[in-house]
Amino acid sequence: MPASWVPAYVGAGSNLDDPQRQVELALARLAEMDSTRLVAVSPLYAGPPMGPSDQPDYVNAAAALLTRLAPESLLSALQSLELRLGRSRDGSKWGPRRIDLDLLLHGDTVRQGDALTLPHPGLAERCFVLRPLTDLAPELRLPDGRRVSALLQALDCSQLRKLCSRGDGD
Ligand code: ATP
Ligand code: CA
Ligand code: CA
Repeated sequence: MPASWVPAYVGAGSNLDDPQRQVELALARLAEMDSTRLVAVSPLYAGPPMGPSDQPDYVNAAAALLTRLAPESLLSALQSLELRLGRSRDGSKWGPRRIDLDLLLHGDTVRQGDALTLPHPGLAERCFVLRPLTDLAPELRLPDGRRVSALLQALDCSQLRKLCSRGDGD
């Protein structure tokens, strides 16, 4: 286990079974993970699916954590949480799912592997990842020095809609 607390960012997505509720539930559960503190959660966004288009729109958000877990342990905790939240897949790549939790960043860790790649491989091209990440941490940089806000500005994210959080009425 790393000696100190490391900032980590998690992306959450859902397009089944009341996606907004599923994402809110998953974000709340991140606060209960061992050796990890939930620091902040982003607003929620709705947008079109990636991959197969014959599936419902997605709701996505991101969370900022501090963790003492190593990257592999944090990913495995996220995968257990996905299962507890009822994730099952239809088998197709990027097919519909009740919850998806991706480890976007773990400090400055750079890793290339089937089981774990960091930063998350889709991060730099995905509006639904960069937009909530930039909300959480506008100054955040990838290990290679690129700023998430600059990566976001390079994309056309006009199809992404910010959702009002339940209860705040704005
Ligand atoms: P994408 O990874 O493109 O967002 P996906 O989330 O639908 O697609 P999954 O089926 O959830 O993909 O995950 C496929 C595999 O990706 C998992 O077995 C997991 O071990 C691996 N993986 C590699 N790097 C990461 C990461 N940073 N976060 C989450 N999963 C990862
Ligand atoms: Ca994903
Ligand atoms: Ca995933």
